[in-house]
Amino acid sequence: MNIILLGPPGAGKGTQASRLVETRDMIQLSTGDMLREAKTSGTEMGKIVAEVMDRGDLVTDEIVIGLIREKLDGDNKGGFIFDGFPRTLAQADALSDLLAEKGDRLDAVIEMRVDDETLVQRILGRAREAEAAGNAARADDNEDSIRTRLMAYYKQTAPLIGYYHAKGMLSSVDGLGGIDEVAGEIQKVLDKA
Ligand code: AMP
Repeated sequence: MNIILLGPPGAGKGTQASRLVETRDMIQLSTGDMLREAKTSGTEMGKIVAEVMDRGDLVTDEIVIGLIREKLDGDNKGGFIFDGFPRTLAQADALSDLLAEKGDRLDAVIEMRVDDETLVQRILGRAREAEAAGNAARADDNEDSIRTRLMAYYKQTAPLIGYYHAKGMLSSVDGLGGIDEVAGEIQKVLDKA
């Protein structure tokens, strides 16, 4: 089963994806994680994406589609969880083409709903926790970048909600509950998919 976790930054997509890796033996494909890896690797691509990411804007479709294309080769066990991808309509079209090339398809798109103020507080909380633990906070977990990331979500990514709804694939869950509660809601959707 291949699914997309769709939602604004701070909605809990990564947390829920990790859960699904454990409970359903799925493979998490997070373009954010891949890009952060590229950033620290010092490659040419890493240098290009660093500034864009830190500001909170979206990296080009070409780069992220290329990253996903590489990962879709090989074994996919219980299927893929796309976490933070697609974020634009062009990426959504590319994903369905890539899956079709493999003779595969998307089974469900789960939108995680959380209000803006909670998102900002969650992300700032995540930055404070990292610092208190002696780790560096994410370079884009500051108030300015968070606002830019939210704007990018509403302008470029939120249209995917209508797109997948029209395809009959969209389910929405309330992302405000505790981790277990939200995981339970997601399980219910997947059991029906
Ligand atoms: P995330 O970890 O998913 O919050 O992603 C962190 C940052 O990486 C985003 O703010 C974007 O700059 C970049 N990014 C991650 N995934 C994508 C994507 N699918 N398309 C464009 N940019 C992305």
